Amino acid sequence: MKYLFVLILCWIAWRLLRPALRKPPPSRAPPSREHDGERMIACAHCGIYAPEREMLRAKNGRCYCSPEHRAAAAEGA
Ligand SMILES: [Zn+2]
Repeated sequence: MKYLFVLILCWIAWRLLRPALRKPPPSRAPPSREHDGERMIACAHCGIYAPEREMLRAKNGRCYCSPEHRAAAAEGA
């Protein structure tokens, strides 16, 4: 029974200490337009920033946040 009590105490201590051990990496003062080291690109139509891999690249080399905006920009709207 004593071992069980010690085990529970250890478990509680571990649960309490675990968040402290998982310290976030030191901030490298990333630019405001960086997100997890990923390049953020502005939609050429609405200007919203999104990760580069989520952006749609049009034939003219511009990036858009959605197919709708890519189509709208192509139509000149
Ligand atoms: Zn857009």
